Amino acid sequence: MRKIYNYFRNTLQGKIIIYFFTTILLSNIITFFVVSPIINKMISKNGKNLILLLKEFHGIKFLILSISFIICVTSLCFISTIVVKEIKKITKAMNEVAEGNFDIYLQTKEKDEIAQLIFHFNEMTKKLKNTAYIQKDFVNNISHELKTPIASIQGFAKILKNNNLKDKDREEYINIIIDESKRLENLSSNILRISKLENQDVLENQSKFSLDENIRKSILLLQNKWIEKNIDFNLNLPKTYYYGDEELFIQVWTNIIENAIKFSNENTQIKINIEKSIDLIKVYIEDEGIGMTDEVKEYIFDKFYQEDNSRGSKGYGLGLAIVKRIVELSNGKIDVESEVNKGSRFIISLRMD
Ligand code: ADP
Repeated sequence: MRKIYNYFRNTLQGKIIIYFFTTILLSNIITFFVVSPIINKMISKNGKNLILLLKEFHGIKFLILSISFIICVTSLCFISTIVVKEIKKITKAMNEVAEGNFDIYLQTKEKDEIAQLIFHFNEMTKKLKNTAYIQKDFVNNISHELKTPIASIQGFAKILKNNNLKDKDREEYINIIIDESKRLENLSSNILRISKLENQDVLENQSKFSLDENIRKSILLLQNKWIEKNIDFNLNLPKTYYYGDEELFIQVWTNIIENAIKFSNENTQIKINIEKSIDLIKVYIEDEGIGMTDEVKEYIFDKFYQEDNSRGSKGYGLGLAIVKRIVELSNGKIDVESEVNKGSRFIISLRMD
């Protein structure tokens, strides 16, 4: 019963049926209470004059049809005005969005299909607003991030020209220059990588490789970082063969595991599991780190997104965007579950075709 009520109350189709039903009911009521008494009156008045009666009867038929027609047209105009008014409102808002104004929120009290369209429109502008903000913010950040190491490289290089420097100081300044240039190199290679991945539709170098070995290799590449924090790995990696781009998958695991280490406290554990079914491989990477709020979770795969610098992140918000693109190009899927102060779990699902 409730379902039927919701159908007529909350769907455009249901509302149109109700309007038409009301129209037909109205014309019947008019026929029954207005036209029928007139006919009865005429029969009793005209008595046996059948020809006159038939003539007037045609007139009455015309009257009934005209009334029904007027009611139908009026109700159609009424329905279309409601629909067109809402669509005009959405079109106007769409034009604003096309001109770059994302600060728009459409109100609606209804629950029908147009209201759903309005709901999705509002969601879209909210996301566009965030993306625009993130990208604008990134441009500001990136110019700062580029200027800072370049200035310090220049500064220390100038100091190094001084012949009277102590060996200890000289070494310290050279190390700073090396670290800063590494950061610059990292940033530029990540920007190049994401733009290359975004411009390709298929992976070029595909072959059959051992996914478990691939993950082990990535863990080894990050050895310095997890040893420094005394992080323990709990691995459950059964032999798993997969057809894909081996090099790019190293990047996938490295980026996720590097984050897991970065956002974990010392002496914690990172669990990595492979689960296989007939046509699906699932890789779970789970840390006991600081976790994320639902809002952060929503944007972590967006390019240039970083929650904030207060949590000690030194990246540029490109790592997970690269991961997502590689997984998508491999026809896979990546999900994340997380709880603040409890940890995060990344789930990568890959199909075995
Ligand atoms: P970055 O290189 O800046 O870390 P990423 O794209 O790798 O960029 O990550 C984006 C953001 O996602 C991080 O700044 C952080 O807020 C969040 N994040 C990613 N992985 C984790 C994790 N394991 N635990 C908590 N937060 C994470």
